[in-house]
Amino acid sequence: MSGAAAGVTPRLVLATHNKGKLKELRELLRGQVPGLDVDTQVVDAAEAGAPDVAETGVTFAENSLLKARAVAEATGLIAIADDSGLAVDVLGGAPGIFSARWSGRHGDDAANLQLLLAQLSDVPDASRGAAFVCAAALAIPGDGGIARETVEYGELEGSLLREPRGEGGFGYDPILQPKGMDRSCAELSFEEKNAISHRGQAFRALLPAIVAALSEAAG
Ligand code: IMP
Repeated sequence: MSGAAAGVTPRLVLATHNKGKLKELRELLRGQVPGLDVDTQVVDAAEAGAPDVAETGVTFAENSLLKARAVAEATGLIAIADDSGLAVDVLGGAPGIFSARWSGRHGDDAANLQLLLAQLSDVPDASRGAAFVCAAALAIPGDGGIARETVEYGELEGSLLREPRGEGGFGYDPILQPKGMDRSCAELSFEEKNAISHRGQAFRALLPAIVAALSEAAG
């Protein structure tokens, strides 16, 4: 707990329990909105007392909007949510929205990655294209509902390696090599990955709408 515990009023909530995502958003917003203390007023779901939201949508955009809307309505705060995953060309975009539970157990990164590698074992290098994709949604609460909402997208294109490489990152990072690079995402620093990542792109695209919403709310 930071913002709430310090008695500071939060102004923006990111619908996540992932501290890495919260850090990314805070860095993006730092210095962008006059009077906004990103370290205490930009908070995650737990700090805002927001509920967990079931991802029942069938697209990244639907899921990001479901989460942003529910959290904005529950907290009365401007809310942001993202949904992301890996889209593999020869699998027609799968695992897609099922990326976190491709092996059957939600969040088992190692099993998900190993299953995918096994499925693609006969696929030649030239056909191993894939991309991390992300939808990021902003929902602004209004009279008993949502006054306005926006969705933006980001994509990190690359190809799938045959063996995991690198110790950093999470999920499918060890097997996605971004286009034009000779390292996997798990071999990039936190800053290198953020600079090119699907989530970084989507958050940056959403930035003008976030800044406008916070400025309006303050005015
Ligand atoms: P979420 O949108 O954060 O819930 O991510 C869903 C799933 O997509 C994760 O569990 C990972 O398997 C995968 N994924 C999303 N973004 C990344 C990434 O940047 N690196 C590796 N895997 C990712």
